[in-house]
Amino acid sequence: MTETVFSEPQVFRDIATLQQHLTEVRQEGRKVALVPTMGALHEGHLALVRKALKEAQEVVVTIFVNPKQFGPNEDLASYPRDEETDLKALGKLGKVTVFIPGVEEMYPGDFSTFVDEAQLSKGLCGVSRPQFFRGVLTIVGKLFNIVRPDIAIFGQKDAQQAAVIQKMVRDLHFGVEIITLPTVREEDGLAMSSRNQYLSKAQREEAQALSKSLFEAKEMVEQGVRSTDRVIAEVTHLLAQHRRVRLIYAQVIDTETLEPCREIVPGQSLLALAAWVDQVRLIDNIRL
Ligand code: AMP
Repeated sequence: MTETVFSEPQVFRDIATLQQHLTEVRQEGRKVALVPTMGALHEGHLALVRKALKEAQEVVVTIFVNPKQFGPNEDLASYPRDEETDLKALGKLGKVTVFIPGVEEMYPGDFSTFVDEAQLSKGLCGVSRPQFFRGVLTIVGKLFNIVRPDIAIFGQKDAQQAAVIQKMVRDLHFGVEIITLPTVREEDGLAMSSRNQYLSKAQREEAQALSKSLFEAKEMVEQGVRSTDRVIAEVTHLLAQHRRVRLIYAQVIDTETLEPCREIVPGQSLLALAAWVDQVRLIDNIRL
């Protein structure tokens, strides 16, 4: 199916002007949906925007590579940025408002307040990226306050992120409905990610092992396996056969509490993993 250009997205770069626009939107009684992204948009992001367009009359997509969620030795400087292509892709979907603030707009020099979740954010990716969720919650909290959306849409690809945001909303009474959508994958199963752009052809082939190991785990559960140890052992074994892949973690957790489970409960357990493919850090997960 070809999508035709519907309209040029309306772009805002400063908070005050965006808020003026949103005040008018709210006066007209229009429902507001927020889709936060770091840009370099792919089909995974676009699926979230399509859902937002179905659910609300005003869709705000934010594009901001948030420096506070990157560690000192991470890929902030090299993170892919392509505003023009992103705006074209969004324009084909429908009428969207795009907020693209600069770093100074979001974090003026005297910025000193952060949101930290003390439980769900500490395991899994929180172990190897201790600054990550504090950065994510701070920016998402700011975006919730700036946009004051009725709903906000996130991807299950970042399952821990979605759970931590949901927790923040509950703990701090943000009053935003969180919708989480399934992971969009490439044809060969690789979860779409802006970071896939970093992969060479050889690395791209090896990266397939991540989703393959998840599908294999799901298959084991469908055939009756309930032991977490057995599933993790198989995933570890499969990934170990790929020279470029180094596992950071593979864990079976409860989909809501993110607590580790010893026994798999079909429908309620999630297998989440993170791995290096050479120097590229990828994550993926599957509901078992
Ligand atoms: P990012 O730009 O990576 O910060 O992601 C922005 C939003 O898109 C987050 O809610 C992600 O979970 C979501 N997202 C990223 N990749 C995918 C994917 N492959 N499928 C569905 N949602 C995704």
